[in-house]
Order: sequence, then structure tokens, then C-alpha cells
Amino acid sequence: MNTTRSSELYAEAVQFMPGGVNSPGRAFKGVGGTPLFIERGEGPYLYDADGNRYVDYVLSWGPLILGHAHPNVVEAVAKQAARGTSYGAPTDLEIQLAQIVTQMVPSMQMLRFVNSGTEATMSAIRVARAYTGRDKFIKFDGNYHGHADSLLVQAGSGVATFGLPNSPGVPQGATQDTLTCAYNDLDGVRATFEAYPEQIAAIIAEPVAANMGFVLPEPGFLEGLRALCDEFGALLILDEVMTGFRVALGGAQDAFGIEPDLTTLGKVIGGGLPVGAYGGKRSIMEVVSPVGPMYQAGTLSGNPLAMAAGLATLTTLREEGLFERVVAVTDRVHAAIKEAAADAGVSLQTAQAGTMFGLYFSEAPVTNYSEAKASDTMRYATYFHALVEEGVYVAPSAFEAGFTSIAHEGEALDHTIEAVRRAFQRVAEQAEQSA
Ligand SMILES: *Cc1c(COP(=O)(O)O)cnc(C)c1O
Repeated sequence: MNTTRSSELYAEAVQFMPGGVNSPGRAFKGVGGTPLFIERGEGPYLYDADGNRYVDYVLSWGPLILGHAHPNVVEAVAKQAARGTSYGAPTDLEIQLAQIVTQMVPSMQMLRFVNSGTEATMSAIRVARAYTGRDKFIKFDGNYHGHADSLLVQAGSGVATFGLPNSPGVPQGATQDTLTCAYNDLDGVRATFEAYPEQIAAIIAEPVAANMGFVLPEPGFLEGLRALCDEFGALLILDEVMTGFRVALGGAQDAFGIEPDLTTLGKVIGGGLPVGAYGGKRSIMEVVSPVGPMYQAGTLSGNPLAMAAGLATLTTLREEGLFERVVAVTDRVHAAIKEAAADAGVSLQTAQAGTMFGLYFSEAPVTNYSEAKASDTMRYATYFHALVEEGVYVAPSAFEAGFTSIAHEGEALDHTIEAVRRAFQRVAEQAEQSA
């Protein structure tokens, strides 16, 4: 496979942007090599600058559940662009998207649109603090909630520790109220609540953890978080930026039957344009300005182009039977991965929820971040490069989820099943050579 043009573009890009990228996950640091530069996307396929075609399981890290350049989305955006790209004043489009979102995710009685998942989680934390009058909150080790200072925290050892920033530039002061617990460890959460009585405003959690690979909540975990929040007077924030409209049409909260106080959304809600949202119970959301005193604003929030893309995406996604078809595609991909690994004799842990899936090269089950980190990332790198050679693009990191779209039905899926089979054979050969 020839990737000369991508390499040339990379050499140019590094002169202007750190690592040649505008988000570090796009660099190939976790797998080696240099990033593929993309020229266009169509349906299930990405085309790189050298004209190579890949079946895409990254899908812009989740948003493109209809595939690339879906005609409904393209048409909606083009039509809106001709009427102006931004007004800085309210529009009917915002009401329409809010109506659909609140119907699909009924725990969000009221919401506000922002421009990214980062803004959504940052604002939801602020709402929880403003509403409860408490400063501390709990997050889980290995859960990612965007790059706001207070959320960029790595857990230390012990049941719960004061958060230590995991990036230079984040002052200690910004994270001193961030408490961290291990995912799927309810005892740790209870102990943290008991250690800081009446000081914890909220728990923020990914209902299915999709930023440390892909880890399902153990039975009772989410229910336990709900109960602990009620017992200790804290709010439950489910960060559904990744899982919203993907684990189920109503998000993971629908699939697992958990009602959060606040929800954050992103990714699919914008259909490939920059959109996020935070919302929840009306009584809580009324702390937000201009109704309440909590300030949050955005020049391009509720931007008409982004609203149009979100509306077209969610309206199409709700068409009779469409979501189920995307789940069926995901079932097939997941089954193909398990079968290929078993046939090649490669130890693998896999999981799936709705239209998302994930895998770890590990003999032991993975239920939290430390177990995830113990998986074999070298094998993942071999798997990744083998798939790219076969014309299949997956995340260039062992700690990301996989995503499917309605466009993956048919030819793309058949291609994937063959490619995955060969990729696991490659992993097995490599393992044999190094043994
Ligand atoms: C992607 C993601 C975010 C951050 O969203 P951005 O739009 O990248 O700022 C927050 N939370 C979760 C769970 C995510 O997956």
C-alpha cells in the first residue's frame, strides 16, 4: 500500500501544528507510524490522500452513525448554509432539535446546546455545583469527559485520592475538588461519600466506559451510583457524549433503565458538526442564566448549520427499523472479531453495546482502567496495521471503542469480515515469531 502523499502531508503538518494534528488521538503514537491524511468520506468508506480506501470504524470518533456524507445530512447543511451560517440570535431549528432530543432522552426536560462534549461536561459540573452549593465531585479513573481543567485527573492509589492533574498546565487548585474512584467499584464510591460528608455535588460517569477501550458497567453498578447519589444528596451526571444515540436510541440510560439528574451529549447529536448539549430536570436546569445565576454562554452555540446536521441525523436515525439495522451490523462485526480471534488462537476480550464495540488483547476480563492498561498494546498495534493494510480503519489506539453506521451494511461488512480474519492470523504469526 502506497501512503507517500500522507507522509508528505504529515511532514508539512508538523511544522504548523503540534504533532501535525489538532487532537492528539489522531496521531499514531499508540500504534507507531504516521497518520493517514484523509481526502474524503463516502458512506462506510474513508479515502486517504493516496487514494486508498478504508472501511471506517472510527467514524469521526462516533458521530457518523449514518456514515460519511449521508444525503439527508448533506442536503440539510447545504440548504441552511445558503440561508446564512450563524445569526447569534435564536432560531426555530434549536427548538426542533431540542424537541427531538427531549423526546428521545426524556430525563432531559430542559437542555442547552454548546459546541463540544468538553463544554457540555464542564457546564454540567458547574450546574451541579451551583445547584447543590457543594464543590467536590467524583469521577472514575479512565473515564474521559473532555479536556476541562477539573476533569483532567488521573487517580492515584487507594480507594479515593485527591485528584492529581495528569497534564502539566493544570494547576493543583483546579483539581483539588475532583475525587477519583475505580470504575465498577461501588464500595470505593461509598467510602468517598463517607469521607466527604455533604461536600460532594455530583458523580460524573460514562454509563458505558468508551475512552479506556470499551468496558461495560457490571450489573448493579449504575443502579448503585443512582442510589448513592440519592442517599448523599448528590446529582448523578451521565456523560453520554459517546453512548448517546448509540448504545440505544435513548442512550445508555434507556438501555440500563437509569434516570440521571443531568445528561451530557455530543458526537452523534451534531451528525459530524460541532455540537454538544447538557440538560436534565427542569428544576435543576433553571439555575442556568438568564433564568438563574449560573453563567454559561457561547457565540456559536445552537449554530444553525450544526442544528441542521443534528436534526437530519436524528430524524433519519429514528426512521422505522434503522437503528436496529445498525445494531445488527455491529452484531456481525463483533461476532466476526470473536470468531477470527478464536480460530487464530489469540486471547481476546470483547464487548458490545448497541452500535459500539471494543476489544482487548488480554487473557483476563477487563472491568476497570488498571486492567485495561494491562492489556497487550503491542498486539493491538500489529492488529491495527494489519487491518489498515487490508483496507479497514480502526482507532490508532488500544484504548478506544469501535463504531458502526447504517452505511456498513452489505459490501463493506463482507470486506471487514475477511480483513479481520487475516488480521488475527497476522497477530498469531507475529506472536509465534516472537515466542
Ligand atoms: C468525546 C467525549 C467527550 C469530549 O467531547 P469533545 O467534543 O471531544 O469535547 C466527553 N465525554 C465523553 C464520554 C466523550 O467520549
